Amino acid sequence: RIQLEKVFKAYGDNPPVIRDVSLDIGTNEFCVFVGPSGCGKSTLLRMVAGLETINGGTLRIGGQPMNEVAPAQRGVAMVFQSYALFPHMTVFENMAFGLRLSKVAEPQIQKRVGDAARILQLEPFLQRLPKALSGGQRQRVAIGRAIVRQPGVFLFDEPLSNLDAALRVQTRFEIAKIHRDFGQASTIYVTHDQVEAMTLADRIVLLNSGPAVARDGSVAQFGAPLDLYHHPVNQFVAGFIGSPK
Ligand code: ATP
Ligand code: MG
Repeated sequence: RIQLEKVFKAYGDNPPVIRDVSLDIGTNEFCVFVGPSGCGKSTLLRMVAGLETINGGTLRIGGQPMNEVAPAQRGVAMVFQSYALFPHMTVFENMAFGLRLSKVAEPQIQKRVGDAARILQLEPFLQRLPKALSGGQRQRVAIGRAIVRQPGVFLFDEPLSNLDAALRVQTRFEIAKIHRDFGQASTIYVTHDQVEAMTLADRIVLLNSGPAVARDGSVAQFGAPLDLYHHPVNQFVAGFIGSPK
């Protein structure tokens, strides 16, 4: 469970990019962040991950206050658009890296990486370097590296935007399945893609941004996909979601 209470963020002296964001994301819930470019989706996700400081309000994960907790101690695993693999390490070593840092026993590492490789169809590539993989295979390694940590929280920032259309669909199904199979995980997924948002989300968070909204970086609406579609709270939500007139 991820709880944000009046979370606030400003970079330096710039106007705030996140204001008064309060969200309660359940265990086993798949939550999708959407909104115009620059509205603060990645910033919000990175604050949950611990990669950005929080300037106000409270973040809790599993009921515990997290504002001051280091990223590695939060029980979260993040997948980036850019994969962020280690180029000099094999696929196996990339997936094992975080487990080695946390001093997981070697047989456990072998088992967890083996299981993830099977789920993601990466077994033939375990001894290769990332540069010898396609974009889709690299992204599956990045997803595998998140799975093996067995996190309570999965964070995805536009993980499919570098993939072609067919791979996007396939990997989207894989991500949905991983979330389901994990059972107890909360997932936050950032995307520009309406289809991804509508099909993956239990609930969607749309962030305000632009000249037509009152407060940039606040939550415009938080609800089930069909709720936003059929019952948008204002013109901004209706326009963004493409609700019928
Ligand atoms: P996109 O959909 O384009 O990825 P986003 O919703 O993820 O956008 P963020 O990356 O969170 O948006 O950025 C939100 C705002 O904060 C933007 O105006 C951006 O320019 C600004 N910003 C992001 N990172 C920094 C930083 N390190 N320093 C200053 N401003 C930043
Ligand atoms: Mg972003």
